[in-house]
Amino acid sequence: MTAGTEPSIRWPAITKDIGSFRIRPNLVDYDAACAAFTWDEGRRALSGLPGGRGLNIAYEAVDRHAAGSGAGREALRFVRADGSTHSLSYAELAEQTNRFAGVLRSLGVGRGERVFSLTGRGPDLYIAVLGTFKNASVFCPLFSAFGPEPVRQRLTLGSGRALVTTRALYRKKIAQLRGQLPDLRHVLLIDADGDPEPGTLDLAALMREAPPDGDIAATQPEDMALLHFTSGTTGTPKGAIHVHDAVTAHHATGTFALDLHPDDVYWCTADPGWVTGTSYGVIAPLSHGVTAIVDEEEMDADRWYRILAEQGVTVWYTAPTALRMLMKAGADHAAGHDLSALRFVASVGEPLNPEVVVWGQEAFGQPVHDNWWQTETGGIMISNYAATEIRPGSMGRPLPGVEAALVVRDADGKPVIRDGEAVLVTAPDTMGELALRPGWPSMFRGYLHEEERYRRCFAGGWYLTGDLAKRDADGYYWFVGRGDDVIKSSGHLIGPFEVESSLMEHPAVAEAGVIGVPDPVAGEVVKAFVELRSGWEPSGELALDIIGFARKRLGPAVAPRLLDFTTALPKTRSGKILRRLLKARELGLPEGDTSTIETPPPNATPPDAAGTGL
Ligand code: ATP
Ligand code: MG
Repeated sequence: MTAGTEPSIRWPAITKDIGSFRIRPNLVDYDAACAAFTWDEGRRALSGLPGGRGLNIAYEAVDRHAAGSGAGREALRFVRADGSTHSLSYAELAEQTNRFAGVLRSLGVGRGERVFSLTGRGPDLYIAVLGTFKNASVFCPLFSAFGPEPVRQRLTLGSGRALVTTRALYRKKIAQLRGQLPDLRHVLLIDADGDPEPGTLDLAALMREAPPDGDIAATQPEDMALLHFTSGTTGTPKGAIHVHDAVTAHHATGTFALDLHPDDVYWCTADPGWVTGTSYGVIAPLSHGVTAIVDEEEMDADRWYRILAEQGVTVWYTAPTALRMLMKAGADHAAGHDLSALRFVASVGEPLNPEVVVWGQEAFGQPVHDNWWQTETGGIMISNYAATEIRPGSMGRPLPGVEAALVVRDADGKPVIRDGEAVLVTAPDTMGELALRPGWPSMFRGYLHEEERYRRCFAGGWYLTGDLAKRDADGYYWFVGRGDDVIKSSGHLIGPFEVESSLMEHPAVAEAGVIGVPDPVAGEVVKAFVELRSGWEPSGELALDIIGFARKRLGPAVAPRLLDFTTALPKTRSGKILRRLLKARELGLPEGDTSTIETPPPNATPPDAAGTGL
């Protein structure tokens, strides 16, 4: 792929038989939905706090169902290690979250103050998220496998006032930091069992004493609700601020991109330590009144197929890294599981290789709908819309209410602005920086304490995403790469995604990460790091075969010149390939911020818990 204009579509589009989908008839037509939908209309689908007291995410997600016919419906169904389940109904969740808000109130944790969590995916985490909203405080989830330093950094940056955690995590990661965290007044242990550690509180005991009902604190749409740290793929993680109005976008995109209905059994595999796990693991599904599955354990191919089958999952939202893992595990694992309930599969977080979309159709009987968004956008922006055809390899089209564009970049990679307006790419299949017109409800309202960094994200009337993409003649967007990952070789601009996807079409390749390495003649040449599928062994011959295969597909200017085999591509804990780290290691440069790294370097000790924070 070059910066030229050759079409990106190489895989046939997947046209869907709408009859087999339970799609709301007024949303089948993408163009009509785009023309008709406004965010104000999205707001009308919500209830608002009773008595005109504003908008609160927790009320939209829980209490409005609990107050009506949804009270007895399962809101959250947790799957334990042994496969057994335990649930909270909407009514129970309403009561528990009232109690949690009461606990915060009794401790004097106030409006806008930050409540952090560092715990696995159990009921207390979900109760804490929603109970914090009810108290008008701000929730900030941390991934439980973070080590002490990333935890300290984030608690300090966010001035955490309260922290919900477990005894083991407290002992291991927090106790020694207490002296360095003067703002942290209250540590609430979920498993204190009547005997909290010194300097901590017994959350269960406090919950028992707190009132089961009570008014949700009045909150306005622009009040801060969530602080979410980015994945840290390109550098130091940033704390993105989100407000209560975000629920407008979560609800609407739950309709457009995930086709959620109240009778769905929905499973989002992301950990709430990452934005997907809150926006689409808590808020969007509950705002639709669905039953949301939460796996309390870490990822495992057999376990995941079992959950899909045994829980009767109808809508599944996962990530490319997980799908590639299932693909790598082979078809045997899927055999014998009845996946007939599954009617919709979606993916986010990284480019989704077309190979995986097509494989999904065989493995699940459903193609995978890729969609694109960021911590900063708070919700899905571009998606293979629920009711229209899928283009494998494409992120899809902007959702109703979202205005996207590609901004022309100059030779230094800077957006071109003329008379205060960004210059936009108009020709099809031409690369530019993906940009969004500000104004959608889940847009981040700042990076905490980094005003200048926030300001730099906007230029010429647009929010600049830092990602490069192309758009085809029909308006589908095709991801090229992160601005920083794009390789410049002999005058070509090469996006790692297309090279990685081509490599994955080779039968031996399970996963690939591609970087540019300096070359005196070409500027940079492409180097690939390849993980093999089970049953294949690395050899010089196989490396040449894979390179030859890629050359046939991509041409010699774009195909990798160099190839190394690896058994562990470095990834963030949210499952993204860390190309910057591959490059730093290759060039012997400092590794930079690695607080969110999942895969350890070859001779390091393994992380203390496996992460599936997708
Ligand atoms: P940081 O901003 O700290 O470097 P990050 O960008 O990985 O980390 P997230 O906000 O979790 O943090 O991820 C958003 C990014 O993930 C997007 O900007 C894009 O690069 C990538 N991404 C997400 N979904 C897709 C997708 N469907 N296709 C391609 N890339 C995607
Ligand atoms: Mg980012």
